[in-house]
Amino acid sequence: MKLVEVLIEYPSMQIDRPFSYAYDGDDIQIGVRVLVPFNKQEVVGYVLAIKDIISLENESVLQGREIKSITKVLDEEPILNEELMKLASELKEYYFAPLISIYQTMLPPSLKPKSSSLSKPKIAYETYVKVKDENILLTKKQEEVFLKIKESKESLKNLYSANIIKTLLDKGAIVEVKKEKRRLKTENIEKKEENTLSDEQQDVLTKILENPRDIYLLEGVTGSGKTEVYLQLTKKMIEMGKKVLILVPEISLSYQMIHQFEERFSSIAILHSSLTPGEKYDEYRLIARGEIDIVIGARSAIFAPLDNIGMIIIDEEHSETYKQESPPYYHALTVAKMRMKYHSCGILLGSATPSLESRSRAYKGVYHLLTLNNRITGHLPTCQIVSLSDYKEIDKESILFSKTARKAIQETLDKHEQVMILLNRRGFAPSFSCRKCGHIFRCKECHLPLTLHKDVHRLKCHHCGYEEDEPDICPSCSSTYFRINGYGSERAEEEVKKLFPSAKILRLDSDVSSKKGQTKSILKQFKNQEADILLGTQMIAKGHDFKNVTLAIVLLADIGLNLPSFRAAERTFSLLTQTIGRAGRSKNGLAILQTYNPTHYALKYASKQDYEGFYNYEMKIRKMNMYPPFCYCTILTLSSANEELLDEMTLKIKAFLNASFEDKAVEVIGPSEYYIRILNRHYRKKFLLKYKSFEDIKDVLLKLQDIFKSQRGVQCFINVDPYEDY
Ligand code: ADP
Ligand code: ZN
Ligand code: ZN
Repeated sequence: MKLVEVLIEYPSMQIDRPFSYAYDGDDIQIGVRVLVPFNKQEVVGYVLAIKDIISLENESVLQGREIKSITKVLDEEPILNEELMKLASELKEYYFAPLISIYQTMLPPSLKPKSSSLSKPKIAYETYVKVKDENILLTKKQEEVFLKIKESKESLKNLYSANIIKTLLDKGAIVEVKKEKRRLKTENIEKKEENTLSDEQQDVLTKILENPRDIYLLEGVTGSGKTEVYLQLTKKMIEMGKKVLILVPEISLSYQMIHQFEERFSSIAILHSSLTPGEKYDEYRLIARGEIDIVIGARSAIFAPLDNIGMIIIDEEHSETYKQESPPYYHALTVAKMRMKYHSCGILLGSATPSLESRSRAYKGVYHLLTLNNRITGHLPTCQIVSLSDYKEIDKESILFSKTARKAIQETLDKHEQVMILLNRRGFAPSFSCRKCGHIFRCKECHLPLTLHKDVHRLKCHHCGYEEDEPDICPSCSSTYFRINGYGSERAEEEVKKLFPSAKILRLDSDVSSKKGQTKSILKQFKNQEADILLGTQMIAKGHDFKNVTLAIVLLADIGLNLPSFRAAERTFSLLTQTIGRAGRSKNGLAILQTYNPTHYALKYASKQDYEGFYNYEMKIRKMNMYPPFCYCTILTLSSANEELLDEMTLKIKAFLNASFEDKAVEVIGPSEYYIRILNRHYRKKFLLKYKSFEDIKDVLLKLQDIFKSQRGVQCFINVDPYEDY
């Protein structure tokens, strides 16, 4: 008889500890999932430990309760290996999250320990044949097939005539082998030779290889050839018998880079959110069995069960997508550093505009700083800032374009070169109101103004996803006339079509890209010069290499600057720099930033592609206001459907925090309101903690969790190192 420690699937702090169950059998291991009775239900759990016991009665007496039995063992093999189970425990400590929620985050959706996903995908098999005995007498035809099989060592059974195969099997000349099938169809991509590295690139590669177990920050202007460094570093790692894990901000936006990897290497798994559960399951198991050298994926790929990792490459390391802004609130780089210790591997962070945290760590010598200062081909584009308040720039025929911008577009189209236009706001118009009484249509859930989406005649909330039909009459005065306020990408597209009727225009934003395969298809069409203008949100700014783009226009550079976030300037600078960087990859390029804030430092430095200038300026501001990288932050969010209860609890917690941190170097700011005050019908309040040492907050936050374990009606979320603070 065995006593098995099982972690139950509820992602709740209340039961974040293992429970004991009995099992009589040998087919159980640490790391497999089991079905157990819990609270009159059958739930899925994870086996954390197993020990042999002599009698169940004894054990029940010892524990003072009846020990129930495991109903069923669900997996033949563990689905999390030892490293990942250790990693989960480490993450639990750092992010104050229930262990089970970390397991759920680590696993592909179809393997998550959830009762609802019990029917995990079945393994698919393929049948191969191989030579068993060469001395069997065969007819000429049989001999022919036999030799083909012998040549290819092992060959798919269904490639040959079923009759001959049957005879060969019967005679004992060949045998059948069953093998797991990889359901993902991989295109056969023509392999390409590598480029000869420029001196700068070579220098960078040499430095990393001198000490491949450290953390490097590769700061390289747009178009300086960071990808080629990743490729050749990967090759060296594989030659050394090591594996490489590569993170990109978003798979569909990185298809060009992924393609370059596929042109050089064969043993790659790409963890894509659009894989079917069966495909994901196969890829996951292939990686787990050690049959894959290179894994490429977005944030959650940091949990890929890759062994023997030599290097973790994080491209566009400043990207906000690496931080999950929902429980367990992890950052991929934090996880990467934990895996680095286990594997003694290196980490390479790449960006044209590194996050201030990474750049200052490199400055202090915690990371090694490597730089690529020059574009491989072409030059950095010239950039012009156009003030939208300047009356000379007002174009009577256009609300969106200044005279300068419109003229530049026309000239570029005349030269048969391509244009990119950024408007970082989706939908048709960001607000919709009644023309007669001024009633503003707001989200029923969070009260923010609804965005009009004209193509589908819907009003949508961009914060919580709420939608309703575009109205016919005003609910407060019954008027049927409405006002459309401001611009989104959908409306910009309409205007661009009107102004440049003969140009072919493509639009890319998350409304368009929600259809499977659309993003890649649009980016491909534009790369193949099947369109003249690509218009869209930040999705068009990231990493693409379009040779014929000579003009980049930002319609309203100020979007984002006014967000109440300490990162507002950094994000704007980064987005603008990336967008400007799309122009002039092979010819001279021009970029135009339209703005109401022409003297803002984020715009000024972006227009010169001057990262160092921006960094120095922004660091002064961060220091003055005491924000990262000068301190660490954690946000505590209290949330409840009952506003009174929330207010009451908030006061209690405020007193608790103030008392707990009295003699520590921790600043407590709050309670304060969220920018989005109500989310999914829950009222929210927040506290911001600023501190220099994690040790100063750790015990207090553990106590805080204890308080909420017995608290009904109010939840507390802990977000360590938040990306945003509003
Ligand atoms: P980044 O990622 O730094 O913005 P890319 O990796 O997109 O830059 O490189 C810009 C362009 O230069 C790409 O078209 C790439 O193929 C090319 N390139 C990079 N390195 C070399 C090299 N050593 N020799 C020739 N072409 C190169
Ligand atoms: Zn009205
Ligand atoms: Zn909403």
